Amino acid sequence: MNKVLIIGCGGVGTVCAFKCAQNPDVFNEIVIASRHKEKCDKVAASIKSRLGVSNITTDQVDADEVPQLVALLKRHKPQLVINLALPYQDLTIMDACLECGVDYLDTANYEPKDVAHFEYSWQWAYRDKFEQAGLTAILGCGFDPGVSGVYTAYAAKHHFGHMHTLDIVDCNAGNHGKAFATNFNPEINIREITQPGRYYQDGKWVTTGALEIHRPLTYPEIGPRESYLMYHEELESLTKNYPSLKRARFWMTFGQEYLTHLRVIQDIGMARIDPVMYNGQPIVPLQFLKAVLPNPQDLGKDYTGKTSIGCRIAGTGRDGKPLTYYIYNNCDHHAAYEETGMQAVSYTTGVPAMTGAMMLLKGLWKKPGVHNVEEFDPDPFLEQVAKSGLPWHEQFNIDLEL
Ligand code: NDP
Repeated sequence: MNKVLIIGCGGVGTVCAFKCAQNPDVFNEIVIASRHKEKCDKVAASIKSRLGVSNITTDQVDADEVPQLVALLKRHKPQLVINLALPYQDLTIMDACLECGVDYLDTANYEPKDVAHFEYSWQWAYRDKFEQAGLTAILGCGFDPGVSGVYTAYAAKHHFGHMHTLDIVDCNAGNHGKAFATNFNPEINIREITQPGRYYQDGKWVTTGALEIHRPLTYPEIGPRESYLMYHEELESLTKNYPSLKRARFWMTFGQEYLTHLRVIQDIGMARIDPVMYNGQPIVPLQFLKAVLPNPQDLGKDYTGKTSIGCRIAGTGRDGKPLTYYIYNNCDHHAAYEETGMQAVSYTTGVPAMTGAMMLLKGLWKKPGVHNVEEFDPDPFLEQVAKSGLPWHEQFNIDLEL
């Protein structure tokens, strides 16, 4: 009897719960818990009525508090926690999993609230503890990080003798009709985008200004879109796990309208993450901004267009000859909304989280310790993720434009 506990009930949590409920043979029982139980109740009711299932219950937890988490885990006794709250809660949830003997999976690396700093070291420091407890922790199992790492592992396993360059390319060619909105949690999203850029070159990290380097890249079924070099967390684990890589970069598309709004938000101080006093109360400007921006979960209804995310890799093939390779998925916002009530950015994160959880529960990705997704066999994951709504495509010996 498998029971899974999903913590966090935003756009990603909603899609993941929906996808788990579609697979009752693996996810026999599902518990959704978040800070506000009424949101979980609403999502559970909607999934039950859409899919006609009855195996979902809900609960309340403040995931910043280890004792509350431990009590939650003891109440429900799940095999696995899928952490789809915010990156701030990764360590408290990992602590509770260790205390209660429960496996763990998340989609974003730990970030302290007071400094926007992205690195795996905090979570990798739990390796020995998870290993000694015989528990598995799977880190970063969304799309990017997540499928991007699995695509890279698949390329290494099946096509390349040596991979020399890796470019992860993330395009959102969707239109939600709003002047400015973020596609997932605004606070997390804006913290990430306003950071300096960083990429890996010949064993060193090179830092750039935020969104300083950009160029048009052509995306399948979409066409050219201006793409901006950013730091993204999977670069850290992929460059460690594939030491033949001489260069690794991450690119994301942004429209001019979005960038203009972002610049104004920064210029007027609304992207600040340090508290300022307002009417005698400390407030964090970015958290206040989140409260007035559109809720990413409400964007789905009018969202049209597609996302296209993939890996462009160059190196030598198994036959020793030069090889270029592109593996990607395109996901349609409207189709994602019709199926789950959420847009494609939540969909492309929630489906891989469910797929990784399924791999773990089936014993295919069960390996005590703390691991990034590329450390597991990519084949069963990619077979399942395609069946679950994210088919992937390959192109060989093309111009990578990079
Ligand atoms: P949302 O902001 O929509 O949802 C976050 C959820 O977490 C909400 O239900 C919120 O509850 C809950 N939460 C926040 N703080 C706590 C807490 N202290 N205790 C309990 N619950 C809490 O975010 P998204 O769904 O857009 O994103 C979820 C995660 O997915 C994030 O970590 C994000 O970084 C990651 N992500 C990963 C991607 C990838 O490709 N790897 C892409 C996109 C997102 P409430 O609303 O009640 O406050």
